[in-house]
Amino acid sequence: MKLYSGKMNRLVEELSSLPGIGEKSAGRLADHLIRMPEERVRRIADAMVDARENVHFCRECYTLTDEELCPVCGNEARDHNTIMVVEDTRDMQAYEKTGKYSGVYHVLQGAISPMLGIGPNDIRLKELMARLQQSGIKEVIIATNSSLEGETTAMYISKLIKPTGIKVTRIASGVPVGGDLENIDEITLLRALDGRVEL
Ligand code: ZN
Repeated sequence: MKLYSGKMNRLVEELSSLPGIGEKSAGRLADHLIRMPEERVRRIADAMVDARENVHFCRECYTLTDEELCPVCGNEARDHNTIMVVEDTRDMQAYEKTGKYSGVYHVLQGAISPMLGIGPNDIRLKELMARLQQSGIKEVIIATNSSLEGETTAMYISKLIKPTGIKVTRIASGVPVGGDLENIDEITLLRALDGRVEL
Protein backbone atom coordinates (compact mmCIF):
# COMPACT_ATOMS: atom_id res chain seq x y z
CA MET A 1 0.00 0.00 0.00
CA LYS A 2 1.39 3.36 -1.02
CA LEU A 3 0.96 5.86 1.78
CA TYR A 4 2.18 8.91 -0.04
CA SER A 5 1.71 10.35 -3.49
CA GLY A 6 4.22 10.64 -6.33
CA LYS A 7 7.23 12.68 -5.30
CA MET A 8 6.85 11.97 -1.60
CA ASN A 9 6.75 8.27 -2.38
CA ARG A 10 9.90 8.55 -4.40
CA LEU A 11 11.69 10.31 -1.53
CA VAL A 12 10.58 7.69 1.01
CA GLU A 13 11.66 4.90 -1.34
CA GLU A 14 15.09 6.43 -1.90
CA LEU A 15 15.64 7.06 1.81
CA SER A 16 14.57 3.57 2.80
CA SER A 17 17.18 2.11 0.46
CA LEU A 18 19.84 3.38 2.88
CA PRO A 19 21.25 0.94 5.45
CA GLY A 20 19.45 0.91 8.78
CA ILE A 21 16.53 2.97 7.52
CA GLY A 22 13.24 1.12 7.31
CA GLU A 23 10.11 2.46 5.68
CA LYS A 24 8.88 4.04 8.92
CA SER A 25 12.09 5.96 9.55
CA ALA A 26 12.21 6.93 5.90
CA GLY A 27 8.69 8.32 6.21
CA ARG A 28 9.69 10.32 9.29
CA LEU A 29 12.81 11.67 7.59
CA ALA A 30 10.90 12.60 4.45
CA ASP A 31 8.26 14.33 6.52
CA HIS A 32 10.97 16.25 8.36
CA LEU A 33 12.77 17.18 5.14
CA ILE A 34 9.75 18.71 3.46
CA ARG A 35 9.12 20.88 6.52
CA MET A 36 12.69 22.19 6.59
CA PRO A 37 13.67 25.48 4.91
CA GLU A 38 14.52 24.73 1.29
CA GLU A 39 18.00 26.18 1.77
CA ARG A 40 18.88 23.63 4.48
CA VAL A 41 17.63 20.71 2.40
CA ARG A 42 19.76 21.96 -0.48
CA ARG A 43 22.80 22.04 1.85
CA ILE A 44 22.24 18.43 2.88
CA ALA A 45 21.79 17.30 -0.71
CA ASP A 46 24.89 19.26 -1.76
CA ALA A 47 26.97 17.68 1.01
CA MET A 48 25.93 14.22 -0.19
CA VAL A 49 26.74 14.85 -3.84
CA ASP A 50 29.95 16.73 -3.03
CA ALA A 51 31.22 13.91 -0.78
CA ARG A 52 30.26 11.26 -3.33
CA GLU A 53 32.14 13.12 -6.06
CA ASN A 54 35.26 14.08 -4.14
CA VAL A 55 35.89 11.50 -1.45
CA HIS A 56 38.13 8.61 -2.38
CA PHE A 57 40.62 6.24 -0.76
CA CYS A 58 43.85 7.48 0.82
CA ARG A 59 46.78 6.43 -1.36
CA GLU A 60 48.52 4.91 1.63
CA CYS A 61 45.99 3.50 4.11
CA TYR A 62 42.75 3.33 2.06
CA THR A 63 40.65 5.30 4.48
CA LEU A 64 38.17 7.75 2.97
CA THR A 65 39.58 11.21 2.34
CA ASP A 66 39.36 14.05 -0.16
CA GLU A 67 43.12 14.58 -0.17
CA GLU A 68 45.70 12.31 -1.76
CA LEU A 69 46.91 11.35 1.69
CA CYS A 70 44.62 11.36 4.74
CA PRO A 71 45.58 13.60 7.70
CA VAL A 72 47.07 10.63 9.59
CA CYS A 73 49.28 9.38 6.75
CA GLY A 74 50.28 12.94 5.95
CA ASN A 75 51.41 13.58 9.53
CA GLU A 76 55.17 13.16 9.86
CA ALA A 77 54.91 13.09 13.65
CA ARG A 78 53.03 9.76 13.56
CA ASP A 79 54.89 6.48 13.88
CA HIS A 80 54.74 5.17 10.32
CA ASN A 81 56.29 1.85 11.34
CA THR A 82 53.34 0.71 13.43
CA ILE A 83 50.25 -0.12 11.38
CA MET A 84 46.85 -0.81 12.90
CA VAL A 85 44.61 -2.83 10.60
CA VAL A 86 40.89 -1.97 10.86
CA GLU A 87 37.84 -2.91 8.84
CA ASP A 88 36.55 0.53 7.95
CA THR A 89 37.03 4.26 8.31
CA ARG A 90 34.59 4.43 11.22
CA ASP A 91 36.74 2.01 13.23
CA MET A 92 39.78 4.15 12.48
CA GLN A 93 37.86 7.21 13.70
CA ALA A 94 37.01 5.38 16.93
CA TYR A 95 40.72 4.91 17.70
CA GLU A 96 41.56 8.42 16.50
CA LYS A 97 39.03 9.84 18.94
CA THR A 98 40.96 8.36 21.86
CA GLY A 99 43.91 10.54 20.84
CA LYS A 100 46.26 7.94 22.34
CA TYR A 101 47.33 5.94 19.32
CA SER A 102 50.33 7.41 17.52
CA GLY A 103 50.85 4.86 14.74
CA VAL A 104 49.17 4.79 11.34
CA TYR A 105 46.34 2.62 9.99
CA HIS A 106 45.44 0.31 7.19
CA VAL A 107 41.75 0.25 6.35
CA LEU A 108 40.66 -3.03 4.77
CA GLN A 109 37.29 -1.63 3.64
CA GLY A 110 35.61 -4.84 4.72
CA ALA A 111 36.27 -8.23 6.25
CA ILE A 112 36.54 -11.74 4.89
CA SER A 113 33.14 -13.44 4.97
CA PRO A 114 32.70 -16.80 3.27
CA MET A 115 28.97 -16.53 4.01
CA LEU A 116 28.64 -13.30 2.05
CA GLY A 117 31.11 -14.45 -0.57
CA ILE A 118 33.70 -11.84 0.42
CA GLY A 119 37.17 -13.27 -0.04
CA PRO A 120 40.70 -11.98 0.64
CA ASN A 121 40.81 -10.37 -2.81
CA ASP A 122 37.71 -8.33 -2.12
CA ILE A 123 39.32 -6.33 0.70
CA ARG A 124 42.47 -4.18 0.70
CA LEU A 125 44.75 -6.99 1.73
CA LYS A 126 47.13 -6.99 -1.24
CA GLU A 127 47.64 -3.30 -0.55
CA LEU A 128 48.54 -4.07 3.06
CA MET A 129 51.08 -6.67 2.02
CA ALA A 130 52.57 -4.19 -0.44
CA ARG A 131 52.97 -1.64 2.36
CA LEU A 132 54.80 -4.20 4.46
CA GLN A 133 57.52 -4.41 1.82
CA GLN A 134 58.78 -1.02 2.98
CA SER A 135 61.64 -1.40 5.35
CA GLY A 136 61.33 -0.54 9.00
CA ILE A 137 57.78 -1.75 9.73
CA LYS A 138 57.92 -2.80 13.39
CA GLU A 139 54.45 -4.03 14.17
CA VAL A 140 51.07 -4.76 12.62
CA ILE A 141 48.23 -4.50 15.13
CA ILE A 142 45.14 -6.34 13.94
CA ALA A 143 42.09 -4.47 15.19
CA THR A 144 39.33 -6.05 13.12
CA ASN A 145 35.99 -6.48 14.91
CA SER A 146 35.47 -9.43 17.23
CA SER A 147 32.76 -10.85 14.97
CA LEU A 148 33.17 -14.14 13.09
CA GLU A 149 34.24 -12.16 9.99
CA GLY A 150 36.65 -10.02 11.99
CA GLU A 151 38.27 -13.07 13.62
CA THR A 152 38.50 -14.92 10.32
CA THR A 153 40.19 -11.90 8.77
CA ALA A 154 42.60 -11.54 11.70
CA MET A 155 43.66 -15.20 11.42
CA TYR A 156 44.11 -14.93 7.69
CA ILE A 157 46.22 -11.78 7.91
CA SER A 158 48.42 -13.09 10.70
CA LYS A 159 49.18 -16.21 8.67
CA LEU A 160 50.16 -14.05 5.71
CA ILE A 161 52.40 -11.75 7.71
CA LYS A 162 54.10 -14.33 9.95
CA PRO A 163 56.64 -15.44 7.32
CA THR A 164 57.80 -11.83 6.84
CA GLY A 165 59.09 -11.78 10.42
CA ILE A 166 57.17 -8.60 11.22
CA LYS A 167 55.58 -8.64 14.69
CA VAL A 168 51.81 -9.24 14.48
CA THR A 169 49.53 -8.53 17.40
CA ARG A 170 45.76 -8.74 17.97
CA ILE A 171 43.91 -6.29 20.20
CA ALA A 172 42.73 -7.87 23.44
CA SER A 173 39.28 -9.33 23.83
CA GLY A 174 38.09 -6.48 26.04
CA VAL A 175 36.04 -5.69 23.01
CA PRO A 176 32.75 -7.59 23.33
CA VAL A 177 32.16 -10.44 20.91
CA GLY A 178 30.44 -9.25 17.77
CA GLY A 179 31.12 -5.68 18.81
CA ASP A 180 31.74 -3.06 16.19
CA LEU A 181 34.71 -0.95 17.21
CA GLU A 182 32.83 2.21 16.43
CA ASN A 183 30.26 1.50 19.16
CA ILE A 184 32.78 0.84 21.90
CA ASP A 185 33.81 3.40 24.48
CA GLU A 186 37.30 4.91 24.55
CA ILE A 187 38.48 3.22 27.73
CA THR A 188 37.61 -0.23 26.41
CA LEU A 189 39.31 0.56 23.11
CA LEU A 190 42.49 1.67 24.85
CA ARG A 191 42.45 -1.33 27.18
CA ALA A 192 42.11 -3.60 24.17
CA LEU A 193 45.06 -1.86 22.51
CA ASP A 194 47.27 -1.97 25.63
CA GLY A 195 46.42 -5.62 26.23
CA ARG A 196 47.18 -6.74 22.69
CA VAL A 197 48.83 -10.11 22.34
CA GLU A 198 51.36 -11.37 19.84
CA LEU A 199 49.99 -13.88 17.34
ZN1 ZN B 1 45.89 7.43 5.02
